[in-house]
Amino acid sequence: MNELYHWIDGERAKGTSGRFADVFNPATGEVQSRCPMASAAETEAFIARAAAAQPAWGAMNPQRRARVMMAMVGLMNRDMDKLAEALSREHGKTLPDAKGDLQRGLEVIEYCIAAPQMLKGEFTDAAGPGIDMYSMRQPLGVVASIMPFNFPAMMPLWHVGPALACGNAVVLKPSERDPSVPLMLAELFVEAGLPKGVFQVVNGDKEAVDTLLDSPVIQGVSFVGSTPIAQYIYSRATANGKRAQCFGGAKNHMIVMPDADMDQAADALIGAGFGAAGERCMAVSVAVPVGKETADRLIDKLVPRIEKLRVAPYTDGNDVDFGPVVTREAKERILGLINSGVEQGAKLVVDNRDFSLQGYENGFFVGPHLFDHVTPDMDIYRTEIFGPVLSVVRAKTYEEALGLAMDHEYGNGTAIFTRDGDTARDFAHRINIGMVGINVPIPVPLAYHTFGGWKKSMFGDLNQHGPDSFKFYTRTKTVTARWPSGLKEGGEFHFKAMD
Ligand code: NAD
Repeated sequence: MNELYHWIDGERAKGTSGRFADVFNPATGEVQSRCPMASAAETEAFIARAAAAQPAWGAMNPQRRARVMMAMVGLMNRDMDKLAEALSREHGKTLPDAKGDLQRGLEVIEYCIAAPQMLKGEFTDAAGPGIDMYSMRQPLGVVASIMPFNFPAMMPLWHVGPALACGNAVVLKPSERDPSVPLMLAELFVEAGLPKGVFQVVNGDKEAVDTLLDSPVIQGVSFVGSTPIAQYIYSRATANGKRAQCFGGAKNHMIVMPDADMDQAADALIGAGFGAAGERCMAVSVAVPVGKETADRLIDKLVPRIEKLRVAPYTDGNDVDFGPVVTREAKERILGLINSGVEQGAKLVVDNRDFSLQGYENGFFVGPHLFDHVTPDMDIYRTEIFGPVLSVVRAKTYEEALGLAMDHEYGNGTAIFTRDGDTARDFAHRINIGMVGINVPIPVPLAYHTFGGWKKSMFGDLNQHGPDSFKFYTRTKTVTARWPSGLKEGGEFHFKAMD
C-alpha cells in the first residue's frame, strides 16, 4: 500500500498519529494509497516550524520572492503531464480538465510575480511642515489554507501563491480525498527556491483543522469547501481573532431568454452542467428557460446532446466527457437526491440511474441526468447536488427567472443567455450574485480580477486572487514621520554639531 506523507521543513514526513484516510482511485473504486491524518500535536509542530521560517521570508525583498513564483511557473509547465496524471488518478476528472485545474492555478502564480508592484505602498510627501506619511503592506505572519477536493491544484495555488508572495508562511491542509498534487506542488516550490519551512503541508481532518483554528500563531485562515463547514470555520476563526475568508457551496442558475441562440445555450449547459461530473462550484445546476416554447426548444436540444456524452475513466482517451465522482459516498448521495427528485414530482427526462461501465463496475460513475418541471420546494433545487444532474425550472417571465436566482440561498455564479443588451444589462445590475456571465456559462474571473460569491457562498470580505488577495494576506501600517528641517532660511543647509 502506497503511504502518503506530510511536508514539513521542505521534507517528506511520515505521520505519527496512527490514523489514516483511504485515498481511492474513483474509476476502479480501489484504495490506491493511505494518507496520514495529523494529530493536534503534529499540527502544532508544523505551525511552530512555519513560524520559525516566516520572519526571514517576510523581510525579503518582494522581487526575490517574485522570482520564486517565476521559477515555479517554469517547473509547473515542465511537470504538467505528470501533475495532471496524478490529479486525474485521485480525483477522477479527465486529463484536459486536470490540466485546466493546474493551468488556472498556474495563472495565479503568474499574477503573483507582480508582488513588488502590488506591495509598494503609498507615500504622501509634505503631509505637514516637515512631515511625510507613508503606508506599507506587511505580511500577516503564518496563515492556514484549508482546501476542498474538487480542484486539488487550483484551489491551493490560489491561496498559497498570494500568501507566500506577500511574505507569509503557509500551513496548507489539502483535502484528504486527493492530497498528492498539493504535496507535489510543495516539492516544486522548494525546487523553485522557496526557503524550507515557509510552506508546510499537513494532511488531516477535523483534528488538524481545529488545531489551526485555535492556534494563536495562525493569523489568517482561508477556507474553500461546503457551506456548513465554511460557516463553522468562519465563526471559529473570527471568534479566535483571526482574519478569515471562507468560500462555500453553490447552486448556479442559467437563465435562457426566448431570443437566445438555443444551440449555443444548449452547448453551454452541457459543458457547464456535466463537465467534471458537475463537481465544480461554478457548475450550472439549474437552467431557467423563460416561456414554455423556450423550455420545450431547450429540452429538445439538450436531450440528444446528453445522450451522446461519454462517461469513462480518464485513461480512455481525449474524447471522454467526464469521469467518476470522487467517492462511493458522493455517488450514493447523488443517486439519493435523484430519487428524491422523482418522488417529489420532477420529471426525469434523462434517467441513467442504472449506469454501469463494463470493467469498472466498482468505480464511482454516475451517468448524466436531466430533470424538467423542477420547482423551488424540491430537495434537488434547494441542495447543491455536486454531480452530473441538471434541473430545468420553467419560468413564465424574465422577472420570475431573476427572482428564482435572487431568492436562492447561494450566490456564487449565474449566467443569462440572450441577444438583448437591455435585458443582459438589467440582469447584471440587479442580480445579488458574485460572478455573472452574459452568454458565458461559467464566468470564472481571470487571475487579475477576483473570485468570490455572495450570500451563503462566501463568508468574509475579501475575495480570492486578484488585488483582494494581496489585501487579505497583508496588514496595512501607516507611518507619519517628522524630520526637523536643517534648512536655514537663507537656503544654506546646516547640520547641528553633536555635543
Ligand atoms: P468539505 O466542506 O467537505 O471539505 C473542505 C475541507 O474542509 C477539507 O479540507 C476537509 O478536510 C475539511 N473539513 C470537512 N469537514 C470538516 C469539519 N467538520 N471540521 C473541520 N474541517 C472539515 O468540501 P469538499 O467536499 O471537499 O468540496 C466541495 C465543496 O466545495 C462544494 O460545496 C463546492 O461548491 C465548494 N467549493 C467552493 C468554491 C468557492 O470558491 N466558493 C470553490 C471550490 C469548491
